[in-house]
Amino acid sequence: MDGTTKEAIALRVRAILAKIERAAARAGRSPASIRLVAATKSVSAPRIREAVEAGVRILGESRLQEALPKIEAIGARDGVSWHFIGRLQRRKVRSTVGLFAMIHSVDSLDLAMEIDRRAAAAGIRQAVLLEVNVGGEPSKAGFTPSGVAEVVQGLDELAHLEVKGLMAIPPLGEQPEAARLYFRQVRQLAHVLAGQGLQRVRMDELSMGMSQDYEVAVEEGATLVRIGTAIFGMRPA
Ligand SMILES: *Cc1c(COP(=O)(O)O)cnc(C)c1O
Repeated sequence: MDGTTKEAIALRVRAILAKIERAAARAGRSPASIRLVAATKSVSAPRIREAVEAGVRILGESRLQEALPKIEAIGARDGVSWHFIGRLQRRKVRSTVGLFAMIHSVDSLDLAMEIDRRAAAAGIRQAVLLEVNVGGEPSKAGFTPSGVAEVVQGLDELAHLEVKGLMAIPPLGEQPEAARLYFRQVRQLAHVLAGQGLQRVRMDELSMGMSQDYEVAVEEGATLVRIGTAIFGMRPA
């Protein structure tokens, strides 16, 4: 796949939005409840701008160092916002808080507390998602499903942390359908957590689904799908 031409990017974005719409319709959901996050790691600023021109409004970056010049170049105007979707190191929290409209990858209580502390210092509330390692894979970050249930009460106390929901990256399967049960588990976990009488913590957002399996994710309740390859083509190895 070659994602270099502007027309190719525009066509792909349109095709993805149409597929999201159809998947939403199959599940009886409103397409307006699902937002596309373009995963832009290793994608240059000019190509990201083409995606924005094609209608993409949320840009998801995985590494702070890579994100900084792109945010500088593209900015956060015209309804464009940046989300942080990669693994976040504690020492980078200070530079990350406030720069990104949402951090999808909060994977420990310690990290959540550091974000809260830095957000307090900046006088803001930082929107975040709790990453759940739904497949229990040792190589992946995230809370275990029972671990997330254990920390939400504590997170509810943090006045500068705005927990909006959950994020998950299921094990890579051969077929998109293989992810369905994992997506469903994430939705069910959010449902259980939402019923725990929490004050600040919300469970409105489910960030799940990537190029290979986003239609299944939408059928299972995703509100944010993070898509890279299907928009920009294969990343360099
Ligand atoms: C790269 C990345 C994606 C997008 O993956 P594709 O398979 O290219 O769509 C989604 N989420 C995260 C966290 C990523 O790092």
